Amino acid sequence: MQSRIMGAALTAALLISLLAGCGASGSNANGSAVLSDGVLTVGTNAEFPPFEYVGDNGEPDGFDIALINAIGEKLGVKVEVQNMEFDSLVSSIGSKADVAIAGMTVTEERKQSVDFSDPYFDAVQHVLVPAESDIATYEDLEGKAIGCQLGTTGDFIIEEIEGATDQQYNKAVDAVNDLINGRLDAVIVDSNPAGVFTANYPDKIRDLDGEDFGFETEQYAIAMPKGDKALADAINQAIKDLKADGTFDELVNKYM
Ligand code: GLN
Repeated sequence: MQSRIMGAALTAALLISLLAGCGASGSNANGSAVLSDGVLTVGTNAEFPPFEYVGDNGEPDGFDIALINAIGEKLGVKVEVQNMEFDSLVSSIGSKADVAIAGMTVTEERKQSVDFSDPYFDAVQHVLVPAESDIATYEDLEGKAIGCQLGTTGDFIIEEIEGATDQQYNKAVDAVNDLINGRLDAVIVDSNPAGVFTANYPDKIRDLDGEDFGFETEQYAIAMPKGDKALADAINQAIKDLKADGTFDELVNKYM
């Protein structure tokens, strides 16, 4: 009996100290170890306008950067952005970065290594071709030299195209330059960056909607460490709040 009472007292004491611990971490109390130091380290690859690019001041800027900063504000943590190769973002989580935001498509394969937040944006792969090209269908891509950014969903699509040569670049813009220089027949890249790249060379390249090639809609989400439910809940709530209070749409209007 006595030990049972003591047990109850201990449980109560533990509960109180836990609650106190939560309170101490600020108004956006949460139990994620990742957030406990007050800093959210965010991996990105600033080569994907308008989602992320190097701004005039030499620092990463863009829709995703503004979004993760707004999320950090909601969570009461400082956001520190680390620019790295797209292909190393997933493996950086838990070491170089706490989370990653990089117009990253949710895929089953990536889900083996990371958890994803609720999706915040829909996209589809587009096909960039030289202005004079007659490529118009999926079959037209067969046997062609096609450029992409290494490790992206565009890269995975090219791997499946019969006879195509998959030319991987660290930056999509380098693939676009080789398209203009006549070294590639096409480039496969996400819809919004495709629009940005085409706008820079309106006379030289055409931007074809991947839906006409049978490509599926993709969803962008923030990659997070596996199993950190407190972090996922906090980030998902912040995304929800930013959508509800109009901030999300403001960022869309500002960057897209
Ligand atoms: N959405 C694509 C992917 O996740 C490309 C992202 C990017 O290049 N930043 O693979």
